[in-house]
Amino acid sequence: MPEIESFTLDHTAVKAPYVRRISVEHGPSGDAITNFDVRFVQPNVGEIPTAGIHTLEHMLAGLLRERIAGVIDISPFGCRTGFHLLMWGEPAVPDVAAALTESLRFIADEATEADIPGVSALECGNYRDHSLHTAREWAKVVLADGISHDAFARVGV
Ligand SMILES: [Zn+2]
Repeated sequence: MPEIESFTLDHTAVKAPYVRRISVEHGPSGDAITNFDVRFVQPNVGEIPTAGIHTLEHMLAGLLRERIAGVIDISPFGCRTGFHLLMWGEPAVPDVAAALTESLRFIADEATEADIPGVSALECGNYRDHSLHTAREWAKVVLADGISHDAFARVGV
């Protein structure tokens, strides 16, 4: 079995919410891609309901790209405690955390149903399973704690 970094992380030792740089990979031309662990909820303590994390996924896809350059993909963990974020280059964790915080603030304070992109049967694989209410409430929970720049200590919050 290949060793998967995410499975070597001690999930009992982390202090969510946080952004953690998992790895930097380099392609044959030298291009760097950074993989981040964006953890919104304390592992094995809570999880965002499916409809809420689905709506966060759709909204962050646009909101994050508007706030920081180089986003390749942001996709939810199966455990529903956060997201993998892939980015071109080697962005600094505080910059990623700030862009996420601003995105969540929009969701918590301003977003309406019209701000959720891609919620038709044409555009989404399960368009009935969305909840702006749940996304908003969890955005508030994450913002109340603040997104740390370190997975194991509360830094920058
Ligand atoms: Zn979808």
